[in-house]
Amino acid sequence: MSITTFDDFNISNNIKKAVKDMGFEEPSAIQKITIPEALKGKDIIGQAQTGTGKTVAFGIPLLQKIFIKDKSPQAIVICPTRELSIQVANEISKLGSNIKKLKVLPVYGGQPIGRQIRVLKKGVHIVIGTPGRILDHIERGTLDLIGIETVVLDEADEMLDMGFREDIEKILRHTPKQRQTLLFSATVPDEIKRIAKFYQRKPEFLKVSSKQMTVPEITEYYYNVDDRQKLDALCRLIDVYDVDLGLVFCNTKRRVDYVVRRLKSRGYSVEGIHGDIDQKNRDKVMNKFRRGDIEILIATDVAARGIDVPNVEIVFNYDLPQNPEYYVHRIGRTARAGNIGYAFTFVEPKEHKLLNNIRKITKSKIKKQQIPDFNEMNNIKNKLIFNEIKNTIKKEDLKEYRRAIKDFTKKDFTTLEVAAALLKLVKEE
Ligand code: ADP
Ligand code: MG
Repeated sequence: MSITTFDDFNISNNIKKAVKDMGFEEPSAIQKITIPEALKGKDIIGQAQTGTGKTVAFGIPLLQKIFIKDKSPQAIVICPTRELSIQVANEISKLGSNIKKLKVLPVYGGQPIGRQIRVLKKGVHIVIGTPGRILDHIERGTLDLIGIETVVLDEADEMLDMGFREDIEKILRHTPKQRQTLLFSATVPDEIKRIAKFYQRKPEFLKVSSKQMTVPEITEYYYNVDDRQKLDALCRLIDVYDVDLGLVFCNTKRRVDYVVRRLKSRGYSVEGIHGDIDQKNRDKVMNKFRRGDIEILIATDVAARGIDVPNVEIVFNYDLPQNPEYYVHRIGRTARAGNIGYAFTFVEPKEHKLLNNIRKITKSKIKKQQIPDFNEMNNIKNKLIFNEIKNTIKKEDLKEYRRAIKDFTKKDFTTLEVAAALLKLVKEE
């Protein structure tokens, strides 16, 4: 039987309900192929691009196996960064929100270990964290491994890139042999295959090939500017596109600080994150951004790793990334979960070679645009409104509204006049 909805999975109603509450209409491609196999208890290598829903792909099978009365850890999820650990913990908590007394704990460096130990002592079902901190708990004897049934390696390629191979292997060696091991990754280089060979039992290699991937709808533009024109250009584009949630990438920490300062002084609601900002403050900023309390987040590539805010409308490359992979990572932060997104890139005259290289390697169609002047500003704003109108006509039931307009136009006005007046009102809103 082929899977088309979450109801087709052999999982508890609790989880089905949670998935609905999270607003997911149907499983993504990677979820469709991995969840049934993982539910059978098999070891899995799941490969799919970033942003395709790998967390839910392992989160559901893992939760389905939890025996709530046993309050010792039953699953460990190993993630590359603190940010991702928190994010995965949040997603799994949401999936498990209808399972009474479920305890999920993220553990990572930077947070006092004593606090984590106290929570662990009280009883936790699922532990999610970075390799170093998990190993730390294992070595201190504060993470009881006897009851571990599932180990997940999330974003395995990134973890190896970051030099965590030994830590991961140590963790795997400490956990019970009969465990289920799920490995998820955007790419599967030989090093991962080697780990799979040693630490998994007859793993199923399940892959969503790039053709099947739901390519998010990203409109990619580039703008020719000098460095000293960038600030004005950025402000203009933020205004024209009426950005509620935007992400701006700079190549260095210092550039991040500079852009934050300058945008603040122009009255924009912005914050920055980079490696020199301590993690407590980074978390604070990220939470504000998620809640929409700040409109624009300025970040370096490393600090932005793992950022997942579903509604980022526009990604700006204030500086052209030095490496095509970074370009892909950066623009992948918009158009998450099927939304429409924009990626705007500033290119300095000396950078055209680099731009062409990015285009070639990423096979993306980055179209040239002019920084909008006042006239074009008007056109773009109209276009944005027209797009929304189109969507509304397509998706909404407008019966009542049509009737109201019909009544109204009976008297003195044409529908064209009414539409024009509405456009003016919406625009000036
Ligand atoms: P990956 O780990 O593959 O990079 P994530 O697990 O972080 O991707 O998921 C990316 C986004 O997609 C998240 O916001 C997540 O909540 C959302 N998502 C996951 N599964 C679905 C689904 N079936 N339908 C819609 N959105 C989903
Ligand atoms: Mg992921």
